[in-house]
Amino acid sequence: MDVIRPARFDKDPTARSAAGARPRRGDGPILEDTQGRPLRDLRISITDRCNFRCVYCMPKEVFGPHYQFLDRREILSFEEITRVARIFRSLGVEKVRLTGGEPLVRRNVEDLVAMLSEIPGLDLTLTTNGSNLKQKAQALREAGLRRITVSLDSLDNAVFQAMNDVSFPVERVIAGIEAADAAGISPVKVNMVVKRGLNDGSVLSMARFFKSSGHILRFIEYMDVGATNGWRMDDVVSAREILRRIDAEMPIEPVNPNYQGEVAKRWRYKDGGGEIGVIASVTQAFCRDCTRLRLSTEGRLYTCLFATEGFDLKTLLRSGTSDAEIAEAVASLWKRRGDRYSEIRSAETVSLKKIEMSYIGG
Ligand code: SAM
Ligand code: SF4
Ligand code: SF4
Repeated sequence: MDVIRPARFDKDPTARSAAGARPRRGDGPILEDTQGRPLRDLRISITDRCNFRCVYCMPKEVFGPHYQFLDRREILSFEEITRVARIFRSLGVEKVRLTGGEPLVRRNVEDLVAMLSEIPGLDLTLTTNGSNLKQKAQALREAGLRRITVSLDSLDNAVFQAMNDVSFPVERVIAGIEAADAAGISPVKVNMVVKRGLNDGSVLSMARFFKSSGHILRFIEYMDVGATNGWRMDDVVSAREILRRIDAEMPIEPVNPNYQGEVAKRWRYKDGGGEIGVIASVTQAFCRDCTRLRLSTEGRLYTCLFATEGFDLKTLLRSGTSDAEIAEAVASLWKRRGDRYSEIRSAETVSLKKIEMSYIGG
């Protein structure tokens, strides 16, 4: 089986060991999978719907007018999500990220944030395309959201609109970021997926714009998630290439990870202009540190972003099963986990019928 790697993968000078990394808090029980990885993070997709049709995530040809999104009765209620989060907290989960689809299109999302914010010791965050953030930022902050990640792929409207495919203007996402700042949500991180030939020409302008802004810009390698985006390795711009381009104009140096297993590798501008991050999920797979479990909109658990099958938690939730029994079922699922998709990515795995990211939660 040929494992797909870019040509100079093994010599990547940006690859750093996690030595010196601070351990995570680890204040809860430690539940380990077959590879010794603890369960620490839960990503919850709270809707499979989105008002964008990003070409790398929900291409219009597939997610067009006839696409069958989940029926309202099929999706987990706020009460069910909160119950699950509490159970996961008791199993050692420290961080919950609300995602989707577009989480801010779910009605009254701030009520869910308020419910989750009451769980002691839980670090809550949310990833959004920013389209509704201007309207929602204050309510989210008041509900207890302290930090957020906003996705933005270019500052150039022609490029951005070609990517979101619904003619959504950049200015409104920027206004959302400003509103989050004004509401006191901090940090506001910015995610940029880089796809060759589409927005790689925007890397430097994005870096210049967010340098010294107090926002951490993170570049994400384009991934073969789902089965609809027509992914090809040639479309991936490696983290190494991105860093080289930035370094040539604005010199950078590596920074130690905040904790072992941090997904984004951290870099800082040598002139004190702040930090950037790279998420090299394709060229520098980080499966060995992957502590994430995903809960889909309709209550299925996935132990890997590239999974083809999930575990039906909703049936347990809706059939009178106790918290202790659910915790036991989740623990048993995690203990059996051996996923390391990105480390073994190959021509065969790329063509598997994987779950869409908008459903499983990015
Ligand atoms: N709608 C929200 C948003 O766009 O931020 C949250 C869900 S989205 C699926 C979560 C993240 O996944 C976004 O930052 C998005 O850019 C990223 N993403 C989606 N498809 C991707 C792909 N094929 N490769 C890499 N990142 C991807
Ligand atoms: Fe929607 Fe986010 Fe997917 Fe774009 S990346 S289509 S904003 S879910
Ligand atoms: Fe985790 Fe799967 Fe991604 Fe590897 S491929 S880092 S196991 S989600």
